[in-house]
Amino acid sequence: MLDKKVSDLLNTQIMKELYSAYLYLDMADYYSDEGLKGFENWFYVQAREEQDHAMLFRSYLLNNDEKVRLLTIEAPDENYAGLGDPLEKTLEHERTVTASIDSIYTAAAEIRDYRTLEFLTWFIKEQGEEEKNSTDLIKKFELFGRDAKGLYQLDQELMARVYTAPTLILD
Ligand code: MG
Repeated sequence: MLDKKVSDLLNTQIMKELYSAYLYLDMADYYSDEGLKGFENWFYVQAREEQDHAMLFRSYLLNNDEKVRLLTIEAPDENYAGLGDPLEKTLEHERTVTASIDSIYTAAAEIRDYRTLEFLTWFIKEQGEEEKNSTDLIKKFELFGRDAKGLYQLDQELMARVYTAPTLILD
């Protein structure tokens, strides 16, 4: 059994990760609409990774004999101001996810729940990578995305992103 507060936070994180998947799928759809299939691909892969994150939180709860309660996932209501806007919103969103994971970590640390702290370590590192990836993408877009040729090449580059399963595996 896990502590009630920690368990509730982990449960809510399932919804937050699925919301992330929803948000990135919405961004993928936006780029598809704009004819940028590489950007679409990048966000589609991103959405799949978020689904994996949700399943890891689910598995962790179930492995600790906790009940999972699936919460309502809000619909993304993003009106994008331009091609760079989803990139800025991605960084902003990842920062809120980092804060959310950090707050679970704090709650687990307060009660010395070392098992949960160990589990969350992977996500702490992952969030560092997510923030770096979105920052890199913003910089690339600022440098190369403003003219048609550069945008075309960036789109080709983003087309090459392939989905890989998470390195954290839970039974
Ligand atoms: Mg995530």
